[in-house]
Amino acid sequence: MTQSDGDKTPLQAGLYLVATPIGNLKDVSPRALEILSTCDLIACEDTRTSAKLLNHYDLHKPLVSYHDHNEIQQAQVLADKIQSGQAVALISDAGTPTISDPGFRIVRECQKRQLHVSPIPGPSAVLAALSASGLPSDSFTYTGFLPAKSAARKRFFEDIKNAPRTHVLFESNHRILKFLDDFLEVLGSNRVLCVARELTKMHETIFSGPAGQIVEQVKSRSQKGEFVVVIAPADFEL
Ligand code: SAM
Repeated sequence: MTQSDGDKTPLQAGLYLVATPIGNLKDVSPRALEILSTCDLIACEDTRTSAKLLNHYDLHKPLVSYHDHNEIQQAQVLADKIQSGQAVALISDAGTPTISDPGFRIVRECQKRQLHVSPIPGPSAVLAALSASGLPSDSFTYTGFLPAKSAARKRFFEDIKNAPRTHVLFESNHRILKFLDDFLEVLGSNRVLCVARELTKMHETIFSGPAGQIVEQVKSRSQKGEFVVVIAPADFEL
């Protein structure tokens, strides 16, 4: 146990994987705020990005950076701190840590040392998009980001041509139109997909339907912001 912040309940030493909003700051859970206000230390990808959330909720804990480029070394440093009795909260820039974000190495290290690890669930762009897609969600594959090169992307589309389950993936705003062109070329205009942009934010748009129609809708709007794409199983019909 580690005693923190005066009258607040002490938090068990360990690693807390705290999900944070993917846009709307009100989406943070009461439990996430409790952990962030009682932990000893917050590890985050980018201290400036996380400051927006932490300042908004008046949370002022020591911050350390934990990102793709220092993850191997920081996993050891943070595990040492936990082993010495501290409670460490890990957050990413947005959403759930470790999901296409840094984190699995510190989780592995804690498991190796038999230290306490606890998820504090909340927002994730993956499930937010899937839940609003209107596509089958009883079985799905999450693919993260696709390769940037068109040839590799087309190979992925070939692979899922006859897929029996839904696929969820991330695409950058710079590539979304090229992605959709390749999609049409390989999977055709009748394959059903959902393009979810800027979820929980002011310009949230969710288009779902046959690809031919969706591509036109996406092209007719701004492509700024963040995107999740959900692709229906091959035999799915509207
Ligand atoms: N760990 C995060 C999560 O659980 O949501 C995902 C991190 S990944 C590095 C970031 C990608 O998630 C973005 O490039 C975008 O594809 C997607 N994303 C994040 N926030 C989003 C939002 N508000 N609307 C749509 N997509 C979003």
